[in-house]
Amino acid sequence: ADLSPVEPASVPEEVRPLIVAFNDMMQRLDENLQAQQRFVADAAHQMRTPLAGLKMQTELALSEHDPEVLRASLERIHTSAERAAHLINQLLALARAEASSHGTSGLERIDLEKLVREVATEFVPRAMHKGVDLGIDTTGWPLTVDGIPVLLREMLKNLVDNAIKYTPRGGHVTVFTGYDAERPLVALLGVQDDGVGIPPEDRERVFERFYRVLGSGVEGSGLGLPIVREIADLHAAVISVEGGPEGRGTRFIIEFPRAGEPVGPHPGARE
Ligand code: ADP
Repeated sequence: ADLSPVEPASVPEEVRPLIVAFNDMMQRLDENLQAQQRFVADAAHQMRTPLAGLKMQTELALSEHDPEVLRASLERIHTSAERAAHLINQLLALARAEASSHGTSGLERIDLEKLVREVATEFVPRAMHKGVDLGIDTTGWPLTVDGIPVLLREMLKNLVDNAIKYTPRGGHVTVFTGYDAERPLVALLGVQDDGVGIPPEDRERVFERFYRVLGSGVEGSGLGLPIVREIADLHAAVISVEGGPEGRGTRFIIEFPRAGEPVGPHPGARE
């Protein structure tokens, strides 16, 4: 499509503001289109690696006669297939979050405390399996935001998933909600861990698609945090990342506009 700007000077004065707005719109459309094209190219590139692995492993398996070796080979194929499926799920989650940004239908009032409990409970088996202590630290009283339930769950799940993934055995992960008496209109949600941490120079970049910190040693798609950021943006929430407690590990904090009761905790509630 030809997206070149229309020259305002060539049209009657009264329609010039319209032309300016039109050009502006077309430019944004063009930028969106370019971003989409880049994304599709990146996604295809990312899918190529696990698929090439799958193809090679299947070829090897097809020519294998020893049942034991064949079995080991099939297990590797299974792992690779799961990895590819995970990547596709992440891409879909990102696309879903982006699609939602075109409208705010499906908003519900959500209690962050409840969300934290649900998501943390879901991850208990994984944390136990890895030997990581998973706990919650919430305000203890309802802290509500307006949001799209499936997306907020997806967002928190990605953060908890990462925290467990990047925290070695024996470490601690805490999912928390918080409230700042000086900013009663803000609701805080976050996840902190005392794991491998993110070097300060990488902290801004981890929200970029497919960006992964070198040498973090674990497999991943590099799409988890872009999904988190997209969902935060959609909820007019601000996400930030800093070092964890005592300079170890990582802490992600999301600041939501608070919905519902705009003032502090209920009388008598735990601070
Ligand atoms: P990935 O699939 O690689 O985990 P993400 O987008 O979720 O993709 O994260 C991007 C990168 O940020 C990760 O590769 C990792 O290097 C770093 N990262 C994310 N969360 C944590 C964390 N809790 N602790 C340490 N590093 C993290």
